[in-house]
Amino acid sequence: MSIPSYEPGSYQPEANGEPLWFMFYKNRIALLAGADGNLRLPHGEQPLASAFPPRLAGDYHGQPCRALLLDSEPGPDYQLTDYRQDTYELLGEELYALGNSAKQLCHWELHSQFCGICGARTLPATPVSKKCPGCGNEIFPPLSVAILAVVTKGESILLVRSHNITGLYHVLVSGFAEPGETLEQCVYREVLEETGLKVGNIRYFGSQSWAHPSNLMVGFFADYQSGEIEVQQEELQSAAFFDRPNLPELPHRFSIARRMADWWVECQDKAFAASGKYIDGSQITMPAGSGGHPYGAGGHPHSAAPKPGAAKT
Ligand SMILES: [Zn+2]
Repeated sequence: MSIPSYEPGSYQPEANGEPLWFMFYKNRIALLAGADGNLRLPHGEQPLASAFPPRLAGDYHGQPCRALLLDSEPGPDYQLTDYRQDTYELLGEELYALGNSAKQLCHWELHSQFCGICGARTLPATPVSKKCPGCGNEIFPPLSVAILAVVTKGESILLVRSHNITGLYHVLVSGFAEPGETLEQCVYREVLEETGLKVGNIRYFGSQSWAHPSNLMVGFFADYQSGEIEVQQEELQSAAFFDRPNLPELPHRFSIARRMADWWVECQDKAFAASGKYIDGSQITMPAGSGGHPYGAGGHPHSAAPKPGAAKT
């Protein structure tokens, strides 16, 4: 059974103040399958038993969202489904982001059962940490930081195709930050390594939590400075600059990569509508409020940080 098609985000959980449950089994989310064929998040008391404790993943308009790693496959009332595009279409942006948090906590739950130093079984310490009773080692959920870059050259944008992408769509240059590196250095290095191009004027666009398994994607715009495209064969099939009228297929809109490309398109279309001309990429300014909204919904459940949209002092 596949997920029925919904208008994105049309699903609304019953707003009764009870906990909503994001339960994962082997990286897939367990959704309740109703008699009408619709899928929904379970709510109320803990729906299934598990050897793992529930954790708080966030708040959905007053309803606590709980993460639970299942230690056995749920029964026939549930459907297990990949936490990808279909689930995004079902849950909408805000719930999907909360599920992102839950999925990462479940992944950490599974991978931190034993101390990496002495091998003892770890014990819960705080809502987001464990401690080893043997050697005192503290274990927190891991986060891998990766950059994505919109590289512009005049009126065109750099897009690449990697070997591991199915379908015909193009993506942005991306890669993981290395120890000791700033994010800007990472952008410069990744673009150079993957395409042989040097870039400058690197500026922050926004970020997105990406639970596959525990990544923080940080988006930047950068201007082409010098070099000829020389594709890194191990990672990429192709790399090329595209202008606005000749854009290829882009990634799904639940990714920050797509939103970055869409922002470039929007800026180009506005410029064209106003003057009949496209603009140089260096003239593209970053969206207002890119320091959080709209990629992180609801703020982080374990900090007192102001939520997006809250008044800044
Ligand atoms: Zn230990």
